[in-house]
Amino acid sequence: MAKSFCHQVLPAAVDASLLSEDSPLAAFVDTDGAAATVGSLHAAFPDHFQHAFAAKANTMRAALELVRSLGMQCEVASPGELEQALRAGFEPAQIVFDEPAKTVQVLKRVLELGVGLNLDNFQEFERVQALLGGTESASSIGFRINPQVGSGDIAAMSTATRFSKFGVALKDADNRQKLIDCYARAPWLTTLHTHIGSQGCSLDLMAAGIRELVELAEEINSTLGHQQVCLLDIGGGLPVNFDSEEVKPGFSDYAQVLQRQAPELFSGRYRVKTEFGRSVLAK
Ligand SMILES: *Cc1c(COP(=O)(O)O)cnc(C)c1O
Repeated sequence: MAKSFCHQVLPAAVDASLLSEDSPLAAFVDTDGAAATVGSLHAAFPDHFQHAFAAKANTMRAALELVRSLGMQCEVASPGELEQALRAGFEPAQIVFDEPAKTVQVLKRVLELGVGLNLDNFQEFERVQALLGGTESASSIGFRINPQVGSGDIAAMSTATRFSKFGVALKDADNRQKLIDCYARAPWLTTLHTHIGSQGCSLDLMAAGIRELVELAEEINSTLGHQQVCLLDIGGGLPVNFDSEEVKPGFSDYAQVLQRQAPELFSGRYRVKTEFGRSVLAK
């Protein structure tokens, strides 16, 4: 890829005046490479997995259109990313909204559109409860949890430490019981989400966090006596080795670790969503 970029893409871009002294910056995506990567993602997991691309890894409209054309959905973390995903042609039901601090205004828009919604805290739960006012929503909604399984190699991008600020900290005070109570109160809570960290986390650490997610889902469903939680969103974070062209680890390596540590994901009893970003387009 690096070689063809220097020998073919760069001269062609200069010839086409995409790059000049007046316009010294351009972005290029290896579309064949991306198609191969997304193909390996689909091949690594069974069909009841749906794969959302984390838009923050590349928010260019052309990049979002590319991953959409390859059969991916989209994960967004701000109102701007949400609008960009809609402009790139994703259906609302193909989008999941993960902003860590959501205003009432944006919650309203997300619910009206029917975009998937991961709640970060109990205040957001109360806001959504008030907005829905007993009506049903087309959105799939649930909590993001922080399973507090520890940090990867990059502290700033680890989101499952004891004090990480994203999602409900599962092991703090009586949060676990409070979560179960919310699902009992609100039949519209049908999903659970976690994202252990972006880059620098081992596959075992990510799987340990997802193990906690599965156990909470099982506990909620058995407490309620029916399968209310039916979709598990396991986040992204597959580390990318930026220093070589070899892909290591690959999606199938991660799938194997998950199969060992969270076999429930593969039983077909839950629909499963992933949110890979860098590992889809970085190479
Ligand atoms: C950043 C992020 C992702 C994607 O992480 P990658 O390391 O790029 O795969 C997925 N979900 C959430 C909530 C994120 O913040």
